[in-house]
This record gives sequence, C-alpha cells and structure tokens, in this order.
Amino acid sequence: MPGTELYNRIKAEIDTIQVVDMHEHHLYTEEDFLKLNVDFAIMLFQYNSDDLLSAGMTIPNFQEFWDTRGFVLRIDGSILSLEEKWSYIKPYWENVRFTGYGRAVLHSLKKLFGIEDLNDSTFRNISDKIVSLMKPSIYSKIFKGLCGFKYVLNDIDTMVAPGAFERMDRNIFHFVARFRHFTHVHLPGGIEHLENKFDRTIRNIDHLLDALDNQFDRWKQEGRIALKLADAYLRDIHYEDSTRDEAERVLRRIYTPRKHPVYPETLSLSESRPLENFITHRVLDRAEEQNLPVIIHTGIQTFPRNILGNSRAALLTNLFLKYPKIRFHLLHSSYPWMKEAACLAKQFPNVSLDLTWVQVIVPEGAREGLSHMLDTVPINKIHGFGGDYLVPFNVWGSLEVARENIAHVLADKVKTGHMTETQAVDIAWKILNRNAQEIFTFDNQV
Ligand SMILES: [Zn+2]
Repeated sequence: MPGTELYNRIKAEIDTIQVVDMHEHHLYTEEDFLKLNVDFAIMLFQYNSDDLLSAGMTIPNFQEFWDTRGFVLRIDGSILSLEEKWSYIKPYWENVRFTGYGRAVLHSLKKLFGIEDLNDSTFRNISDKIVSLMKPSIYSKIFKGLCGFKYVLNDIDTMVAPGAFERMDRNIFHFVARFRHFTHVHLPGGIEHLENKFDRTIRNIDHLLDALDNQFDRWKQEGRIALKLADAYLRDIHYEDSTRDEAERVLRRIYTPRKHPVYPETLSLSESRPLENFITHRVLDRAEEQNLPVIIHTGIQTFPRNILGNSRAALLTNLFLKYPKIRFHLLHSSYPWMKEAACLAKQFPNVSLDLTWVQVIVPEGAREGLSHMLDTVPINKIHGFGGDYLVPFNVWGSLEVARENIAHVLADKVKTGHMTETQAVDIAWKILNRNAQEIFTFDNQV
C-alpha cells in the first residue's frame, strides 16, 4: 500500500494535521535538559536500549546510563569514549535497527540531520549535530515547530525532580496527575512524606482521605487534566473493592513495625494490597465527581523482565462497571491484547483506546490493531498518537511511523470500499486531533 497514489494522498493530508500528543515523559525543564552532555547514544537510551538489552548487550551501570540519557556507559568501571561506546553498541544495533524503535530513530536522524543511517561513518557526525541542537527553544522547535503538536500531555509525577513541575513550559505541556504517593504509603517514609506535603498528621483512614481531598484541590489549581495509573509495572491491575476495615488494618500495621526501630521492615506490596485497592477506589470516586478522565497503562511494559499478564486491560472490568461516568483511557490499547481491548471499548461506553507507543513497539501490530478497531469500535473512542519518550529527539520519528501506519490502514479501507477518501481523512483528524479535545479539557491550563 505505501507508495501508491492513494496512500500518498492520504499520508499528505495526515501530515497537515495538528496532532494532539497524548503521552510523553519530558521530566526536564528545557533549562535543565540543555545542561546534559549528549552524543549519538541519546537516540538509543530509551526503548532502543530495551531492544539492545534484549539482543544480549549488557549495561552494567544501567541507572547511570539512564540518568545521563545514554551518555555514560561503563564497562569494568571505566567510562567508554565516544569511539569505544560506538564499537560496543554497534553489533547489537545491527540486530535491533529493524524494529519499530529502530525505525523511529532512523526517521528522526533523517529529519533532524539529513543523515540516513547510524553507522561507522555517521556516529561522530550525529553526535556533533545533536550537541549543536542543544540550544534554547529546542523544546518548542521540536514539539511545536517540527512535530506541529497542538497539545502535549506530559506524565512526569513520581519521576520528576523537586521543583521542576512548577518550572515546566505551560505553552507546550499539559499534565496528568499520579497518585502513587497515596496508594504506596506502606513504603518507608510514605506516611511522613504525606504528612509534610499536607502539613497534618496521618494516623487513620480519615486522615489519609482528608489529605487526598486536599491533593485533588491542588491538582485542580494546577490545571491537571487527567489521572494516570501506571501500576501494571508493579502488580496486576485488578483492583478488588477492598473494605475500609481491611484498609484500616493495613494502615495500623504500617505503624506497628515502626514502633521497633531495630526491625526496620515495612509491609510488602501484597500485604498492603487492600489499602492500595481501597485508596484507588476512593481516587476513582473523586475522579467521577470531578469529571476527570483516568489514563491507565495497559499491555507491554518497558524495561526487560516484567510480568506481562499483570497489564491485561480485561482485569479492569470491575472498574468499568462500577464507574460508568469515568472515561477510562486505555494507554497502549493493552498490546498484545488489542483485540480484547477493542471488545472492551465496544462493550463499554466509558472505555477508549490509545495507540500511544504501540505505533513504534510494533508498527505491523498497530496497523492490524487500528484496522480491527475501525471495524469494531466507534471512531470517537480511538486515539492515534503519543510518543511516550523522555527526550524529544525520537518523538518526530515516532510520529512519522504513526502517520505511516494510519495512512496505510486508511488507504486499505478506502481501497476495499469500506469508506471514501474524504471519510478516511476525516477519521485521521478525529483520531489524531478532535477525539482528544472532546475528552480532555486542554483549555483549563493554569
Ligand atoms: Zn508512558
């Protein structure tokens, strides 16, 4: 289908759409981002590093590699030079360059620098050109200029440095809110953190719920436009309707070990589960009252080694039933269970699907999933793009892969007579722009 006149015409129309980017993780203010040391490896540090690890590469200093956005790679304790780093990564890159993540990198290199490939003769030049891009206005240059986004929904809570949220550029980013500081109070310092943040003692469930109400007031003042739940990285996403008594018992147990400083243990995730469930349901009560959409990570997790089955969207069915007024937004459309997610979106008026990140995790699967959704799900509940990146450079490449996928599927639907070309272009506008503006109140920015 790519290369045909029909595809080219639809792709050209899609390229003009001011896309709403449904999901990013840009944790640095631009000022802090520009302080980073960078080279070619910043193109590979996220997602592509998952593929590199999957291909057999080791990153002994993973946390440092992560924190420096791919700049510092240590082998046997020594930091590799630019040349050494390329030699180390190269054989693995050759094995991962054809994945969707690799495709996004190559698209971005071409668009940003006019360079066709990452290889022996380009890694130095790419590194120099990335350094030369690190100038003021880089964020607006990429998000507004290059990608032409109308809005960017940024998910940074739990990962961002203190004080950075307040300094983020509101002309570029809108924000979701995470509530793990309430559901994970069993972790060391969890209660104390909330006590400091809300300037009150917390000794029982009423205190905790009072602080939660205070948090919702603050989120409103900050203009947060949705809640975000990313628990699929830590537990299964089935939230039993645990009782207040069960939650209270957990909360009391949190204090019991602390009465004995020689036993610094805390509760495990499974022991604290009733409290976590209870608080999650109370958060959803508030979300329903305040008409806040709830974005939930469903499907494959990033970073190698996790429990895929924890992330399956069908585990959320009790929430879809209990909270009919909440718009549940299934991030990543529960890949690899996209067909199951499409059934859920068909069955439940309050469930929508989002192809964020899936477009590059598996371009072929995203096309199959979108085609299936268009046959199954009302088009007002399909959302076509979110980059899900921590640095801006691969966002354009990811957007381009998404545009290709969407053009491919729509051209196919036109060719088989399921819709006209005009209808296909209208659908592209809906899934890349209009649907998001119907569900999320982007104009509430503070
Ligand atoms: Zn994400």
